[in-house]
Amino acid sequence: MRVTNQGMRDWFGMFPSSTFADDSCHLIAAMGNTGVIESNDGLVIYDLPIRQYGKKVFREIREFTDKQVKFIIYSHGHFDHCFGYAPFIEEIKEKNWEMPKIIAHENCVRRFEKYKLLDKYHDWLNKQQFASVSGRKQKILVSAHETLDPTIIMHGNEVQYSFKLGDCTFNIYHDKGETDDSIWLWVPEKRLICAGDLMVSSFPNVGNPYKVQRYPKQWAIAMEKMMKKNAEYLIPGHGPLIKGKEKVKDVLSITAEAMHFVHDEVVKRLNESKWFEQIYHEILEIYPEKFKKHKYLRPMYGCVRFAIHASYRLYHGWYNSGNPTDLFPAKSEAIAKEFLRLNSEENYIEHAKKLYEEGKLQLALHILDIIIKGTDEMHNKILLEALNLKYKILKQKANDETSFIAANIIDNAAYQIKEKIKDLKLN
Ligand SMILES: [Zn+2]
Repeated sequence: MRVTNQGMRDWFGMFPSSTFADDSCHLIAAMGNTGVIESNDGLVIYDLPIRQYGKKVFREIREFTDKQVKFIIYSHGHFDHCFGYAPFIEEIKEKNWEMPKIIAHENCVRRFEKYKLLDKYHDWLNKQQFASVSGRKQKILVSAHETLDPTIIMHGNEVQYSFKLGDCTFNIYHDKGETDDSIWLWVPEKRLICAGDLMVSSFPNVGNPYKVQRYPKQWAIAMEKMMKKNAEYLIPGHGPLIKGKEKVKDVLSITAEAMHFVHDEVVKRLNESKWFEQIYHEILEIYPEKFKKHKYLRPMYGCVRFAIHASYRLYHGWYNSGNPTDLFPAKSEAIAKEFLRLNSEENYIEHAKKLYEEGKLQLALHILDIIIKGTDEMHNKILLEALNLKYKILKQKANDETSFIAANIIDNAAYQIKEKIKDLKLN
């Protein structure tokens, strides 16, 4: 699985931190990035990393300044943007400082509530999404029950919250994108935008298969609002500092263009009364080369395939195929058993092998699933053969897959099949 390429190393914060704007601003690299703005009256911190990187980020900041932290802004409530607060709070208590003001959108508060309600479920999901880096047996990725809660809360569609600290102005805007609680920061005196995960230095994480609805169209609108600022610097949620007016404009505009494209092409086809499968394959056919080639649209975490789902789900319920067979389907095991009554397992496995040899991996998987789902004899030789071939295909697909999320989904299934093979051999 490609978790060691440069793109993914950037995503996980494995690159040097940056200092810029006459040494008054800093990007501290971690998972995700922390932005630090030094005013002459104290520090404003935009985002804290994942809990495990809190100490690293704190130490790095304290190497260049001993100024008090006055404000902490959460770009959104994901666990890699606001959970690494412990060392900062320890310092505040030690020095008897006043607590910093914590700024977030009201949907971030709702998110924290949701995390508390669904902690085990999210832990289970995140273990799958991050299995290749966190390991499958790690106990808990992040405890959602311990949060540093916001004290200044932006409400509804309130578009701007501003404050001054020393010689700097901080303008905060709310826009939906990866989440419904995103807020981004503009510091005019420093010509700096802190974007949070509205910019992840690769294809936007819109349409994550595990997670709730995301917002491609509004993402594009957020990018266009940022473009109007004519910023010199942009701190992304993940990846190195984006520097220079032209570069900042280019990454914002290509992202906006890609989001408009996917969203608008889906809408056009919904208006032509098309169902998901047709929409999906048609858009992949026409997805422009300029998007495929752009460094900031690399499909290494999110990808266009997910974005089509996200756009469709904005306007459509769960009945995707237009075929009433799929409305209230029978159990997949029962369907597979009927196929096996029509044709023998031997024929299916031979056909799957042929498809595999022809490089038709996806079709081979569909055929193998008939054997795997329909065969319940514990010692069935063909079942073992089918599981082994499925394992081999999934490993190959995970290895070829560019999207970290998709690769993890596929690789996890391969791991489970391997466990099943072990069990079958033992029985
Ligand atoms: Zn993030």
